[in-house]
Amino acid sequence: MTKIIMLGTAAAIAGKSYNTCFVIENENNYFLVDTGCSNRVLDNLKYANIELNKIHNVFISHKHMDHLLGLFWILRQITILIRKKEYNGKLNIYCNEEVSNIIMTLYKMLLRKSQADIIDNFINVITVKDNETKVIDGIKYTFFDTNSNEVNLYGFEAIIKNKKLVFLGDEKCNPINYGRLYNVDCVMHEVFCLEKDKKQSGISASIHSSVEDVVNNLKGKQIKKLILYHSKNNDKIDKKFEFEKVGNELFDGKVIVPNDLEIIEL
Ligand SMILES: [Zn+2]
Repeated sequence: MTKIIMLGTAAAIAGKSYNTCFVIENENNYFLVDTGCSNRVLDNLKYANIELNKIHNVFISHKHMDHLLGLFWILRQITILIRKKEYNGKLNIYCNEEVSNIIMTLYKMLLRKSQADIIDNFINVITVKDNETKVIDGIKYTFFDTNSNEVNLYGFEAIIKNKKLVFLGDEKCNPINYGRLYNVDCVMHEVFCLEKDKKQSGISASIHSSVEDVVNNLKGKQIKKLILYHSKNNDKIDKKFEFEKVGNELFDGKVIVPNDLEIIEL
């Protein structure tokens, strides 16, 4: 069984929920997608029972803090594991060229020289280009530029045990990408709030979506499962209950709005 383990589900300002990041678990292989903003990624990995020494492949979708900064906490923690001989092998980090340049510069600036020297030896930053395919733990991932106006944002598509998964990052899907979404088993798309809360949530309508926006844009494409994440933290409402209710009333597939640490079967 392939599982998507949500470590975080929120937008940039974390609160009750951590920033959006998740792990794809397939036959004891763990592929980490984005890392959130802080060392809470280490806690949430622990709560999900995923030991850091099992993670050897990471994808960073874009350069924004809420996706990238957790990586430096992971790198720092791995230096500790390496000193204790509890981490073997390399950490492959897949990302676009812009993110690659930032990672290679920042770890040297943010961490002690002794830590950076260790990191030099275990990281392998792999720059991916638009539509480039990489085989990771036996699975073909095709990374693609989502054509965001805002930032150089990459997503991916993968076929895992005959199921197709498409991850679209944390921005409203540019219609350029719609062709990839037909007959997909599982699409992962951002959502910010419900339509009725759009005004007061300060949503930038060109970048982020309401539940209704996503569902209306993606219905009719024979998508079986739609996972919505990256919502605004709001302690007053039960996002899972309310977003799923609205989403499932309108969509022709299944809508899932996970909480942190929720596990979704692909
Ligand atoms: Zn984000």
